[in-house]
Amino acid sequence: MKKGKIFVVGFGPGDYEHITKRAIDALQQSEYIIGYKTYVELIAHLVTAKSIISTGMTEEVSRAQEAVRQAELGNIVSVISSGDAGVYGMAGLVYEVLIELGWKEENGIEVEVVPGISAINSCASLIGAPVMHDSCTISLSDHLTPWTIIEKRIEAAAMADFVIALYNPKSGRRTRQIVEAQRILLEYRSPSTPVGLVKSAYREKQQITMTTLEEMLNHDIGMLTTVIIGNSSTFYYDNKMITPRGYQRKYTLGEEKQALKPHQRLKKEAEPWALDQDTGLAKSGYEKIAEKKVNKSALELANEALALVSGSKSEASNGQTLAKPLIQQKVESIFEIGVSPGVANKSFTPEQMRTLAELVGDNGTMEYTPEHKIHLKIPTDEPQKVVEVLESVGFLIAPIGDYLNVKACDFCYGEKADAIPYAEMIQRDLGGMKLPKELHIGFNGCGMACYRAVFDDIGIVYRKKKFDLFIGAKPVGRTAHAAQPVAEGIEPDALIPLVTRILDEYKQNAHPNERLFKYFKRVKRILDYSYQDMSSKIELEPAPCGD
Ligand code: SF4
Repeated sequence: MKKGKIFVVGFGPGDYEHITKRAIDALQQSEYIIGYKTYVELIAHLVTAKSIISTGMTEEVSRAQEAVRQAELGNIVSVISSGDAGVYGMAGLVYEVLIELGWKEENGIEVEVVPGISAINSCASLIGAPVMHDSCTISLSDHLTPWTIIEKRIEAAAMADFVIALYNPKSGRRTRQIVEAQRILLEYRSPSTPVGLVKSAYREKQQITMTTLEEMLNHDIGMLTTVIIGNSSTFYYDNKMITPRGYQRKYTLGEEKQALKPHQRLKKEAEPWALDQDTGLAKSGYEKIAEKKVNKSALELANEALALVSGSKSEASNGQTLAKPLIQQKVESIFEIGVSPGVANKSFTPEQMRTLAELVGDNGTMEYTPEHKIHLKIPTDEPQKVVEVLESVGFLIAPIGDYLNVKACDFCYGEKADAIPYAEMIQRDLGGMKLPKELHIGFNGCGMACYRAVFDDIGIVYRKKKFDLFIGAKPVGRTAHAAQPVAEGIEPDALIPLVTRILDEYKQNAHPNERLFKYFKRVKRILDYSYQDMSSKIELEPAPCGD
């Protein structure tokens, strides 16, 4: 006799586009389709089975028994569940019925569980990215599970800061469970915790409500609703619920250049919150606070956690002892920026020096660079405020990284002042431009070029009220060479448009990280200027330390 088979098929939220190919294949191979009548109607157009058996709610056991009976007669049967058959679906029950009958995989009927998209995933996708971190599903249905157990699970999940998806939150007769769940959650989470209510995801009557833990009961919640409750970090942005994964602890998300280099990111000192591999301890007092059941915001909890670790306390106005706030919700990043007194100005004022010392403080650093700038590294979560303070004392600000930097000579302390306005114009129009690789424009006020403009990516030398232009120096390394002279006698009005065209071409065509001299060497031509090899022809012995 032909050996039967049971597919236990999860068909996802219910629309065709979210059913897997394997689920469709299983349904189309099956001679019998067995399921809850609402679900059978949802997939009826996909099947050609000779028999469709649909039964009502609470008939799950008879459906599983019938599936086993038909498979034992040699038929191929699909038992269907919405979502995933292994998440509150029919998969477990089919196995339990088989186990009662002494089934063994080795010689019994074949069983295949076909996975589908569960509500936690389909609903999350409709409201942003709320399940980006540890999460759990809890069914509030107490038809088969004692409420005392469900209650413990809600409390444990709330205490452990899981994102929670509540399934079966409410029905005609079960209305109290969701109220109790909210009460428990509010003991551990802020009333403003984001909550998404998704009803009939990806079906015709889909309905989405974005609310908060405090307000959620003021909205329609029914049998077909999934309630997604954020953790203590979840936030709303543009009506989307987002749960951060934690990248902001190590990365500056708005910047391409990161304070931590790839080889530093997994080092112990870069993650002081991690489990210490030698002692088995972690720096966190969070669990101790959670045990106490306090109705506090995430920030208050975090501050108290740190206070527990450090033992620091402070006194409130009413005499109550409070944990001293130690951290802000925002994670501090290292803000890097270059400052100088000006393009042509090399003199710092006492006020500027004082301001630098105050801004940098004990935890930041300042370093003078060959680009005539002070490179600042300041721990802050308010970089814009830092910039405002620096600008208020007259600093010229330069971003760090792959940007255009203008450096000029001191114009013999102003005696050769004719050229200064042009240097300032270049800084104003082009300074800070984002480029494939850092690029320096060296600007010198006379043909002496004593500030080595010809050793920069682009060198500009003012001579006889006109300009000479050099491009493509390799400023460092044993194969360093000067830039190639490409034009002389450029009229002042033509200078900035010409440099802009060179930069535009480089920006559009260079590979990422390709410095201007490499680009020039590779393409052999920039605008009308042909490349000439400026490197020395002497044969170099291999260097013991690399290039
Ligand atoms: S390059 Fe010319 S103008 Fe500039 S500092 Fe040197 S000598 Fe003076």
